[in-house]
Amino acid sequence: MSKVMQTTISCTQCRQPFRAVFQNVIDAQEDPQAKMRLLTGQINLAQCPHCGAVNTMLTPLVYHDPTKELLITFIPMEMGLSKDAQEKAIGELMRDVTSRLPQGAFKGYLLQPRQALTMQGLVDQVLQADGVTPEMMETQRARVRLVEMLLEASDEDIPALIEQNDDQIDSQFMQTVTLLAQRMLQEGQQGVAERLVLLQNQIVACSTFGKQLVERSRAQDALIEQAANEINALGPNAQRADFMNLAIRYADSVEYLQAIVGLVRPVFDYTFFQELQVRIGQSPAAERPQLEALREKLLELTAMADQQTRLALQNAAGLLQTIVNSPDPQAVIAANLPLIDYTFLQVLSANIQEADRRGDVNVGNRLKAIYSLVVDLLQADMPPELQFINEVLAASSEEAARDVITQRMGEFDGQLLEAIEAVEEQLTDQNETALLERLNWLREEVVQIFG
Ligand SMILES: [Zn+2]
Repeated sequence: MSKVMQTTISCTQCRQPFRAVFQNVIDAQEDPQAKMRLLTGQINLAQCPHCGAVNTMLTPLVYHDPTKELLITFIPMEMGLSKDAQEKAIGELMRDVTSRLPQGAFKGYLLQPRQALTMQGLVDQVLQADGVTPEMMETQRARVRLVEMLLEASDEDIPALIEQNDDQIDSQFMQTVTLLAQRMLQEGQQGVAERLVLLQNQIVACSTFGKQLVERSRAQDALIEQAANEINALGPNAQRADFMNLAIRYADSVEYLQAIVGLVRPVFDYTFFQELQVRIGQSPAAERPQLEALREKLLELTAMADQQTRLALQNAAGLLQTIVNSPDPQAVIAANLPLIDYTFLQVLSANIQEADRRGDVNVGNRLKAIYSLVVDLLQADMPPELQFINEVLAASSEEAARDVITQRMGEFDGQLLEAIEAVEEQLTDQNETALLERLNWLREEVVQIFG
C-alpha cells in the first residue's frame, strides 16, 4: 500500500529539473522501512543529480498503522493549498487507503483521521502511539543537539564542553552517537561518520560515564584473565566435578561465576546441573542453601550467556545487512572493524552457503566479495606472524605453501612458534581438522629451522 510515485521537480538550489520519487501513503504494517524513514527524517527527500543538493519534496501524506488504529494526515503548509484543494488531496489518498483494505477490515477510525500540522508533529504522533512520551522525545532531541554542538566545536573546545555536559552523558547518549555515525555511513557521509567515531573516543576519555566504563571493562578483563588461568590449571582432562568445585569456591562472586560461564559455557550442560543436584542432596543440611543459591545463579548466568550469543548473532547479521546494502562496502567494513569477529565471519559464511544453496549467484558473489574484503582488512590489522601463518594455511597446495615459507621465513624469529600455538588452540576449538594438519606441518618446518 506504501506506493512510490514519480514526478519532475526543479532543484531549489540550481533550478534544474529532475525526476524524483516520493511517497504519499505510508502503511506502517506493510512497509516498516517507510515508517523508519519517516521517524528518522528521511522520507520524501530527493538528491539533485546536477548539484547534489538534497530537496525536501512537498506532498500531502497519509500515515496508516492498522495494528494501532492510527490514521494521520499531513499537508505541508508550504504547499499553500486552499481548504478545498486540501480536502480533495486527502480524499484521494484516503480512497487509496480504503480501496486496498481486505474485505471487512473497514473500521470507524478510518472516517476520522487525525491531522498533523507539521512533519515533526506527524513524527511525534507516531512515536506517542509507540509509547514514546513527549518528555522522552525531548530528552532524545537534547541528546542529538549535544552531539551536533560537539561536532561543530573545535578540537580544543571539546574536552571542556564534555565536562560541562557531563550529567547528560550516559549509555543512551553513547548509543545516540553510534546510531548517528551508522546513519551517516549509510548516507555516504564518510567524513562526518569518522568525526563521530573520534568524538566517541574523546567522550569516553573525558566524561565521568566514559571513565567508569573503562574502569569496569578493565576490572572485568582482569577477572576473566584470572578465571581463564584457573580453568587452564585444571588441565585438559578436567571433569564436570572440577568445574563444580571451582564454581563452589567462587559462589559468592557473581562476576567471577559470569566469567567462568562465559569462558566454558558448554561445561554447564544438563548433566552438570544433574550432578550438582546430586551433590546438594549429599551435602550436610547446613551447606545446602548456599549450593541451592549457586545452582540458581548458574542457571541464570547460562541463560544470559545464551541470550548474548543470540544477540551477537543478530548484531552480526544486522552489520552484514548494512555492508551488503552499502554503495561502499569497504568503507563500512573499515569503520566497523572492531565489530568484525569470529561470530561475524560465521554469519557471513552461513549466508554464503545459503545463497549457494538457493542458486542465487548475484547475492552469493556479492557476499563472497565481502568475505575477501573482510579477510584482507583483518589481515592488514594482524601482527606479521599471524599474517604469515594465514598465508601458509590459505596456500593452494603444499608446494605453494613451501614457496611462501622459503620467501618469508627470514622475517621471523622463535616468536613464530608462539603464534603457531595460539592459532592451533583456536583451530582446535573450532574443529578445523584440515587446517590443523597444515599447521602441524608448518610447525615441523619451523622447528627444523629454529629448533
Ligand atoms: Zn540542483
